[in-house]
Amino acid sequence: MNEIQPQLDIDTAIQAPVSMQRTNLLGLDRTALEEFFVALGDKKFRAAQLMKWIHQLGVTDFQLMNNLSKELRNKLAEISCIENLQVAKDLLSKDGTRKWLLQLADGNFIETVFIPEDDRGTLCVSSQVGCALDCSFCSTGRQGFNRNLSTAEIISQVWLASVLLEEEMKPGRKITNVVMMGMGEPLLNFDNVVRAVSIMMDDFAYGLSKRRVTVSTAGVVPAIDRLGDRLDMRLAVSLHASNDALRNKLVPLNNKYPLKELMAACVRFIDKQNTRSRITFEYVLLDGINDKPEHARELVKLLKGVPTLMNLIPFNPFEGSGYKTSSKQAVSRFSEILHNAGITTVVRKTRGEDIAAACGQLAGKIEDKSRRHRRFAVPRFGMEQ
Ligand code: SAH
Repeated sequence: MNEIQPQLDIDTAIQAPVSMQRTNLLGLDRTALEEFFVALGDKKFRAAQLMKWIHQLGVTDFQLMNNLSKELRNKLAEISCIENLQVAKDLLSKDGTRKWLLQLADGNFIETVFIPEDDRGTLCVSSQVGCALDCSFCSTGRQGFNRNLSTAEIISQVWLASVLLEEEMKPGRKITNVVMMGMGEPLLNFDNVVRAVSIMMDDFAYGLSKRRVTVSTAGVVPAIDRLGDRLDMRLAVSLHASNDALRNKLVPLNNKYPLKELMAACVRFIDKQNTRSRITFEYVLLDGINDKPEHARELVKLLKGVPTLMNLIPFNPFEGSGYKTSSKQAVSRFSEILHNAGITTVVRKTRGEDIAAACGQLAGKIEDKSRRHRRFAVPRFGMEQ
């Protein structure tokens, strides 16, 4: 593991916090930016010009934007800003995964991870400060919850990662995919996430195609429906159990939106997509809890009729979790049952473990407003073993 010294001078972008009244243009999508310019008495097309400067060229100093008039540049500097998060830690794993601990203006910290693979580079982005959902095997959940991230705070993760990866000047270190699988439940921060995703997919910003942006949810059913109405992108659903009794314990949100409703919402989502795609299901394999052949068989029944890409995730341990990673045999037996039933199944490789960057290990440092950590004095499901 390597710690890269945070380069606080990477760009003029990392500035001292500015006055609250100024609009942070980093968080405006095309429509909002067009409205912003029209309100200034200028033309709509300025929005595209500005987005290119910010998101494609990484420029945050208005004075360098030489296709805008001097007068407009001065005006922008007066009433708006382009303000990024502060890089507090920059860690490089021996497998090439890079993780950033980012400080927010209010003193909380979140994490963002870049995962290079042969044919792509995936950025795992956070949507909230902590998480309110309390899934029993997730370290982010253990920390409790503070607040939603703003659109600017979500996009800043993509902006910083792009700029910092480009500085590496190495091949294969480009963001080709974004997954909203960092800290938080994206669909409980709906509007800001939708705006951020639309900036990620905008040709004048990051230009990612709809197949390359994935929003992951633990199953907020009404928000899955709203998302399908708003955006054409990939959906991942964190399933983790094949029946309600088990899922209620692992993913407490299931008490509110049980499996039958969740599966129906997945089918509705797929039906709304322009090009028929599949739902990615995530399933963390916990030794002795949800990894038995009968669970796999039950899963096959549950997924009948739902176009599925199954992602099996061997549990990434963290201190005090109380869970164990399933054995290699259990993982391959489980995967084989799904595969034999015709379900496309992938076992997700663990990446960035040495820098605690793997799924469920993202923790940041947050001021917990939910006081959840206090409850962990009492053993919970699965921990008694
Ligand atoms: N709240 C959203 C976004 C988080 S995605 C969601 O639940 O989908 C993070 C993924 O990593 C989820 O599938 C989550 O269940 C999984 N995960 C959480 N803790 C884990 C752990 N300790 N080991 C492996 N995967 C974990």
